[in-house]
Amino acid sequence: RELSKQLGVSLVTVVKAYQKLEQEGFITSVQGKGTFIRKTKMEETERKEGTSSYDWQLSVQDYLPRSQFARFHQVPEKIHLSSSMIDPGLLPNRYLEQEIHRMLSENPKVLSQYGEIQGDKALRQAMIEYLQRMDLTTSPDNILVTSGSQQGIDLIARTFVGPGDVVVMEAPTYPGAIDVFRGRGATILTVPVDCDGMRVDLLQNLCDKYKPKIIYTVPTFHNPTGSVMPIKRRRQILEIAKSTQCLVIEDDPCSEIYFERKPPASMKSLDQDGHVIYLKGLSKILAPGCRIGILAASGSIFKRLLAAKANTDLGTPLLTQKAILPFITSKRMMDHLKKLRTALKIRRDLVLEILSEHSPEEVSWFIPKGGLNVWLTLPSWINTDHLLIEAKKEQITFLPGSACYPTEQENHHLRLSFSYMNEQQLTQGVTTICNLLQSAIEL
Ligand code: PMP
Repeated sequence: RELSKQLGVSLVTVVKAYQKLEQEGFITSVQGKGTFIRKTKMEETERKEGTSSYDWQLSVQDYLPRSQFARFHQVPEKIHLSSSMIDPGLLPNRYLEQEIHRMLSENPKVLSQYGEIQGDKALRQAMIEYLQRMDLTTSPDNILVTSGSQQGIDLIARTFVGPGDVVVMEAPTYPGAIDVFRGRGATILTVPVDCDGMRVDLLQNLCDKYKPKIIYTVPTFHNPTGSVMPIKRRRQILEIAKSTQCLVIEDDPCSEIYFERKPPASMKSLDQDGHVIYLKGLSKILAPGCRIGILAASGSIFKRLLAAKANTDLGTPLLTQKAILPFITSKRMMDHLKKLRTALKIRRDLVLEILSEHSPEEVSWFIPKGGLNVWLTLPSWINTDHLLIEAKKEQITFLPGSACYPTEQENHHLRLSFSYMNEQQLTQGVTTICNLLQSAIEL
């Protein structure tokens, strides 16, 4: 009766809906006690759908005859276009290694101490100054050092999302975030992405109707498409978040890696009302092995996230926080970023050139103005999960589109990362993929 009033539908409709849910095994009614969700059915569904978007790395085996299976796995991939890691040769590993040695000889106590749960104070201060250069003003009290932004997403999810809570994500989106929200039992709703990022025109209705707890977005050099959200859309999302009282996660792994002009202001810097939780990972620009990122939030939201961090690991390792500090605070950091942009632009241009020359005309993409990836759209009948099997035979990998969709999968896309392989490997890998595409289209 309550539900029929709330939803504005007749009692008969509500009863029928309950009957159908019970028939399909999702709920069970116990007379005198009430109606309960059947756990086993939920678990069965989860199992059927798979638990991780990284399943694509394993799932190719489903398509192979068992006889070929072992052989397939003996072939090591040589050309990883699936990985949006940075080529280690473009990162300041040597310098960081020296810094670790120096720090340990000068201050071996680092190993025998707990750091602050919130993160090393000097690093937080350094990050404030770093963010200020990107026109994002915040204070050390509102910064939490995390073990990468992956942990930031997880802390937010475990703090603010419970089973059945609605989370809005872009489609496609970053697979690692899908896994986190799925793991919390969230109901994930999606908004498609175009060349200007999330389709905000579709977001308002969705939010009015389903009242999400969280909107997760990668507005700058979106993973996987590379799109950049213009300032107008960023402001619209903030308005929607305000009117629906939901949080926005702005995940920003690589806004420093721009190839033309600087990207628009971060959503966090435009946020007047404290709805945005900003994540800045350092894996794509400095040292993924250090596992460091920061989270910026305010008020009680920040306090709750700090408590979650304490419960999770009592703080990010002090050793790696101290190791990156001298680099971040020196001029070297800005020089390094400049070089990184130049090197990655050369690689992006190379990939685009090969695609223009060798890919079939049915394949389309738009030019990423920064970031690490090119997102290809193929004719709808081509399944990139299948194409990946062919690519693996040539010792090449890419990220199939299926990994990036939280709900309805689209299988006719793929992501090529140009950040990990050198120019020779990129040339070989992308040319081979173009040939495979040609063969798939001619089939
Ligand atoms: N968010 C996005 C959009 C990413 O692409 C990645 C890494 N691929 C992460 C978060 C996780 O990064 P980190 O290494 O900082 O945990």
